[in-house]
Amino acid sequence: MAWPVNSPARPTPGLYFVATPIGAARDITLRGLDLLASADVLVAEDTRTLRHLMDIHGVALGGRPLWSYHDHSGEAVRQRVLAALAEGAVVAYASEAGTPLVSDPGFALGRAAIAGGHAVTAAPGPSAALAALIVSGLPSDRFLFAGFPPSAAQARRTWLGELAQERATLIFYESPNRVGEMLRDCAQCFGGTRQAAVCRELTKKFEETVRGTLQDLADAFAGRSVKGEIVVLVGGAGEARADEAEVRAALARALEGMKVKEAAALVADMYGLSRRDIYQMALALGRPGGN
Ligand code: SAM
Repeated sequence: MAWPVNSPARPTPGLYFVATPIGAARDITLRGLDLLASADVLVAEDTRTLRHLMDIHGVALGGRPLWSYHDHSGEAVRQRVLAALAEGAVVAYASEAGTPLVSDPGFALGRAAIAGGHAVTAAPGPSAALAALIVSGLPSDRFLFAGFPPSAAQARRTWLGELAQERATLIFYESPNRVGEMLRDCAQCFGGTRQAAVCRELTKKFEETVRGTLQDLADAFAGRSVKGEIVVLVGGAGEARADEAEVRAALARALEGMKVKEAAALVADMYGLSRRDIYQMALALGRPGGN
């Protein structure tokens, strides 16, 4: 089979993993669009989603093949992709949204291509995990992407328990139907005072990030009906705690412009400490001669 050359800037033959938007269609990269425009073969987790994205950006499919592929059901397509690569094709793969292989198909395909001696290239772009890390306010120097927790309660608690000593910021994907119980289990397994964030519908119209201690978030999401796509982030174990003098100083500053309860909540959340303890500290600070 001869592969047509669709663009003057024809990429080097090989398999390209192209990241696609997680919400805002314009988050596709220029290189991603170039690859979608110039690939000889397009492969997608969801062919309709990819066609829609290409339509939005005016990238014509033309007569090019567009194959559906998922790691778990894709042996036959994987072999077709490998055959195309062996003939010198440029193959672009996109998962339904975000970065392929990140809780999305592509791993088995990439590994097969590498084993076959073909070039495998990333065209990086959006991923909900990194977008969430950016807005979470949690330490970003070291993080662990854990993917989706098990959906069954007991298995989830065991799984979370294995992460309890992890010092890196933890990043989870979660279904909106389970986020309440997942947060409750996180508070139980990691302790309620760790800082955490729930990021919903990133880059979309109803984007929302809620930050606080795990206990606050577990309370806020208990019984709340939630829609949309969600990332949950939890500060790592043993995150450096401020010493008491620093907490007192922050509390004294907050008390200058806030009511006791508000100031205590703010400072407790800042340092991942119990709101009750910091409230007691604030009352003591507020008393004449209190220290
Ligand atoms: N490959 C994708 C990526 O790079 O982020 C992730 C695919 S995974 C099947 C889908 C999950 O990612 C969702 O259930 C949600 O947890 C998270 N997610 C995707 N888009 C999101 C968004 N716009 N806002 C928040 N979370 C999102």
